[in-house]
Amino acid sequence: MSDCIFCSIINGDIPAAKVFENEHCLAFLDISQVTKGHTLVIPKVHSENVYKLDEETAANYFKAIPEIARAIKAAYNPIGLNLLNNNGEAAGQSVFHYHMHLIPRYGQGDGMG
Ligand code: 5GP
Ligand code: ZN
Repeated sequence: MSDCIFCSIINGDIPAAKVFENEHCLAFLDISQVTKGHTLVIPKVHSENVYKLDEETAANYFKAIPEIARAIKAAYNPIGLNLLNNNGEAAGQSVFHYHMHLIPRYGQGDGMG
């Protein structure tokens, strides 16, 4: 989609700090890190939210999540990891290309309460 920020990151029109990439998905650091290593994972196929995600895209996407989680653990050594996905404005979604937040947790005082 031409007016989608995350499609522009996939196309290379907007730079991003890449964490992981394969033919189906891309992981990159969130521009506004809630904790160190806060990563977004997006499917390369544009889908607005979970309701629009087709099963094949979802299967290919979710297959990569454990490997990305392990890469974050190896890079940042957190003691926990939150996976979070907002769907719809009322749920806090601000970019309407499906994405998961992977938020490393470091214990009390890591900014996530
Ligand atoms: P949402 O609120 O839709 O669940 O999350 C969207 C996330 O995208 C936010 O955490 C925001 O900081 C991040 N974001 C928005 N624009 C950009 C960008 O251009 N580059 C990167 N790396 N992250 C972005
Ligand atoms: Zn998009």
